[in-house]
Amino acid sequence: MTSPDPDQPLFIIGAPFEPGADYSAIPGTRTLFCEHCKGATVFAPSSLSHPEAGSATFICMSCASKLEGPSEIGEFTPLQMGEIRQAMARELENAFTMFTIFKSPSDYPGSYVVRRFRIVGLGIIPDPDPLAVCDSLGSARLAIQDLGRPGLVCVPAQPDDEPQIVESWM
Ligand SMILES: [Zn+2]
Repeated sequence: MTSPDPDQPLFIIGAPFEPGADYSAIPGTRTLFCEHCKGATVFAPSSLSHPEAGSATFICMSCASKLEGPSEIGEFTPLQMGEIRQAMARELENAFTMFTIFKSPSDYPGSYVVRRFRIVGLGIIPDPDPLAVCDSLGSARLAIQDLGRPGLVCVPAQPDDEPQIVESWM
């Protein structure tokens, strides 16, 4: 642990408030407004009891992801890190999901690859591993059908997309 730099702003990061979510599981959780976007944001009790909280800026995860460089974010206790990971996992679980088919990408030349992307805030987060690696476009589409999500709609590649993108299902 290094001592806090008084010239370095401390940001305390919370998870976006979700109506209906049960926050009573963590007693002392508070909903405050993000000081950047003014969105309702949930802060865990350990964040609020952070020794520097009095001079910190309270922001949501989406705004935090737009900050430049990790040095702008204050140090977290292991407890806070655990809470942030939980909050991020919950965000990912509830995130808008899309599936994109790539033709012969550089990591799988000659194959059709299906990847899942999740949209969190303004960021698009790909799964680390492909959902499916197939030898034809038909099998790639079947891999998406097999997910059993009846509402998925096919969107063809857009002019700005990278050339390996065939289509997306969202
Ligand atoms: Zn915000």
